[in-house]
This record gives sequence, C-alpha cells and structure tokens, in this order.
Amino acid sequence: MNEPPLKPPEEQLPRVVIVGGGLAGIATAVALAGKGLEVELLEAKQSLGGRAGSYREREEDGLVDHCQHVAMGCCTNFLDLCRQTGCDDLFTRDRRLHFFSAEGVRSDFEPASWLPAPLHLLPALLELKYLSWRDKWSIMRGMVALMRTKPETAAYESTVGQWLLQTRQTPAAIERFWKVVLVSALGESLERASLSAARKVFVDGFLANGRAADVLIPRVSLGQLYDERVAHWLRERGVRIRLGTPVKGLRLTAENKVQIDTMADTKTADVVIAAVPWRRLPELLDERLAAAIPGLADFAKIESSPISSIHLWTDRRLTSLPHAVLVDRLSQWVFARAKQGRNEQRHYYQIVISAARQLAGRERQSIIDEAWQDLQAIFPAAREAKLLSAQLITQREAVFSVQPGLNAIRPVQRSNSPALVLAGDWTATGWPATMEGAVRSGYLAAEAVLHQLRVRGSIEPKCLVPDLPRGLLARLLIR
Ligand SMILES: Cc1cc2nc3c(=O)[nH]c(=O)nc-3n(C[C@H](O)[C@H](O)[C@H](O)COP(=O)(O)OP(=O)(O)OC[C@H]3O[C@@H](n4cnc5c(N)ncnc54)[C@H](O)[C@@H]3O)c2cc1C
Repeated sequence: MNEPPLKPPEEQLPRVVIVGGGLAGIATAVALAGKGLEVELLEAKQSLGGRAGSYREREEDGLVDHCQHVAMGCCTNFLDLCRQTGCDDLFTRDRRLHFFSAEGVRSDFEPASWLPAPLHLLPALLELKYLSWRDKWSIMRGMVALMRTKPETAAYESTVGQWLLQTRQTPAAIERFWKVVLVSALGESLERASLSAARKVFVDGFLANGRAADVLIPRVSLGQLYDERVAHWLRERGVRIRLGTPVKGLRLTAENKVQIDTMADTKTADVVIAAVPWRRLPELLDERLAAAIPGLADFAKIESSPISSIHLWTDRRLTSLPHAVLVDRLSQWVFARAKQGRNEQRHYYQIVISAARQLAGRERQSIIDEAWQDLQAIFPAAREAKLLSAQLITQREAVFSVQPGLNAIRPVQRSNSPALVLAGDWTATGWPATMEGAVRSGYLAAEAVLHQLRVRGSIEPKCLVPDLPRGLLARLLIR
C-alpha cells in the first residue's frame, strides 16, 4: 500500500496583534492585511470604530452615531482607507458650506474651481454677508500671515487666540470666522489651541489645494461603515477580529515576543501594536515595555477636550440643506441625517458643539431647548415642527487638546522595542484628533511592523499616502 504523501509543515507566519479597534487599529489592520502575516485585532467593545462609532437607541431609528463625523478632501490617508476597503461610495462630497448668521442670513461658502489655490478661497470669503469689508480684509491678512509663518518660529507655540490678537484681527473676524472654523476643526477653543494646530487646519485644509476643503459626510452610520463594511473586508483577508476582548496586560518575554493577557486567554505575538488612547496605554505595559517608550510619563500631561452632540427627531423636514454652520449660536454645526430607521415620520438632525466646556453643569434640557431654538431661528419650517424626541451626548474625553507644547509630547509610532509599536490619533502625525490622524498613525504603525519583520524583503515599506499636491502659487506662498 502506498503511503500518503507527507504534507509540508505549515509555514509559521509572523504573528501580529493589534490592541484597539478604533480607526488607528483598523487602519493598521488594513495596511497589514494580505502582507503574509497572521493578524489579529482585539477590541474591548462589542463593535469596531472606537470613538467613531454608533449605538442603537430605538429599533425604529436604526444605528445612530455617537457624534457626526466629517472628513475633508485633504484627508488623503482616510480617503485611501475608504477606497481600499470599498467604502468610498458611502460618502457624499460637497464643495459648498452654508453659513447662517445669528439673524438667519445665509451665506454660501464655495471655493472657486477656476482659481488656483490659495486664491480659490477669495470669492468664497467675499460671499460671507455677515462680515464687513474690514473683517474680510483682516481675515485675508491673517491667512497670508499663516501661510508665511515658518513652522520653526517661536510664535508657533503660542495659542492661536494670542496670535489672532497680535495680528490685529477684528473682533468680528475672530468670533465669526476664525472661531467658527477652528473650534469645529480642532475641537478646542482659540484660547487653548496652538497656532501650529490652527496653521495645519488652514494651510492643509483650505489653502494648499483647491479640493482640500471638500466636505465628506458618510451616507450611512459609522457602525455600518466600520463595524460592518470594513470589518467584512478585513475578515475576508484573513484578519481575525475579536470583539468584547479587553486586553489586561502586555509583557515582554525572554524571547523578545509580547505576551498578551486577556480575560479569556494568554497568547504571544512577534509584534503588538497598541492602538489605545494615551490614558489607557501605561496600565497595559509591563516595566520593560514601558521603558521602551521614551516620554511615557509625559503622556499624562495631554489634556482632552469635550464634544457634545444633540440628536433631534422631528415630525417633518426642517431644511433641504444637508448641513449648515451656525454663527454666534450655541449650536455650531447642524447635519440633516439621511434616514436610517424604518419610521418615515421621524426626521433626524444632529447638532455638534465642539470644545463644549461651557456646557458643564448646565441642565440637559436647557441645552436641548437652546439648540432647538437655534434651529427654529434659522429654519422657518422648524417653527411649525414638533420635536418628537431628543438626546444629548457629551463625550468628555472626545479629543486630545491641541495645546502649545503638545507636539513635543506626542510619541512616534516605533518604540525602542522591536516588539511594540504605537498607534492612535494622539501619536505623532502632525494632525489634530481626526479620523485622518488616526489612519495616518495606523499606516505609520504598519510601516514600522513591516520594517521590523522585514516582510517580503521590504526594508522601507510605504503605507502612508502623500498630501494633496500644491500648485505653483501655493508652493510660492506657503512656507
Ligand atoms: C464627539 C466626537 C466627534 C468627532 N468628530 C470628528 C470629525 O468630525 N471628524 C474627524 O475626522 N474626527 C472626529 N473625531 C475624532 C475621531 O473620532 C478620532 O480622532 C478617531 O476616531 C480616533 O481613533 P483612534 O483609533 O485613535 O482612537 P479610539 O477611537 O479611541 O480607539 C481606541 C480603541 O481602543 C479600544 N481599547 C481601549 N483599551 C483597550 C484594551 N485594553 N483592550 C482592547 N481594546 C481597547 C477602545 O475601546 C477603542 O475602540 C471626533 C471624536 C469625537 C469623540
């Protein structure tokens, strides 16, 4: 009788474990999938997405995002992740923003496609009816000054509030333009946010490229996007996702691997990517891994900033606009959400208030009432409408606070141990707390892993996607 042929022993693939299934962990997994590694993603909660996640309040309303998330045309890495995972069809892309003054006067802000960046912003700025010519001139001066501010100047580490006063911006320009844009983009007040963070928003997000300021809004809930679509894409490519699996501890073994302790089991990996928030990281690491991260003790100095979202369900449509920016009001942005639930009679709106410290101590109902009054002042249809239900969600640790000095604390993704890599929006990417920052950190972490493991001979693997290109004029003007 012939002996059956012996099966060759299965190749032992390098084992990589990602701790944390927010966008940083997801991006790391996307970049490592299909690269000849055994990849496992451990997430404490029952769904992927982290802070960019959803919940189910009432069956009839479907999945509701904790807070509306918006991306911009300049978010090249986030958009790359969406394209790679086949999710780019799940976003609407707008060039036009709609600003409403406190009196309800609407100004459409649409960068001109026929002018080179950064001149493309000029017609849009001139359209803002609630600003005087003096205010507009002051804003133009401010933008030029921002473009000409060298990243290494001392002023860079002042607050943007101080800088706006130094550059003699008019009070209306500060309150009704700089504050409106920056507080939403940075999740921090002008008095606390650094000039470097503000420059990042304006230069990369508005001035450098004609499409940078495009607004991308998911047409589905964040849960459908990340926990369903992207998770499916990852599983199809062999990434093992374990939800409801909080990691209790990470230990460096004698073989320089990492032992991962969860409630359910203990495993080892060649490399672990810790993609958890900065406050969670120290408690996970044993002494040797902690020693591999320079400046770990300083992470406690990173402060966070709160964001509130107010969810309103009404008995009728309030506006045909998909979104609006409210000036001089408590409500900063309002989004008309596409119907996700089954009930055709309920129309869903979300209001976002960033850097929401002023809400602390205020009664929940008074905040909802004021937000509803904001909508009634802006949209005539809201005056006839019935508010069916409302929810206020405040995330106290929504985003890290982009204060002066932060860049010196943010760690790079590679640690001093080849077995430990960091990811998370708070690590060094140059970006504020955004989905783009999180994805960048994940791609950089993946580059570090591929480099450590010398996967498929790649010495300097590239996962990070370049910024939008700058035209000649932008290159001449921006330092
Ligand atoms: C209210 C709000 C509004 C926002 N709006 C926008 C916006 O409009 N546009 C934008 O670009 N960004 C926005 N952001 C920021 C964006 O959500 C974050 O920058 C991004 O999602 C951060 O991703 P992350 O993976 O770095 O962190 P997280 O999303 O915090 O992910 C960390 C993950 O690690 C998990 N974890 C922690 N400890 C453990 C453990 N021990 N074991 C296993 N898992 C663990 C957590 O459960 C979590 O899922 C907003 C954030 C908030 C809160």
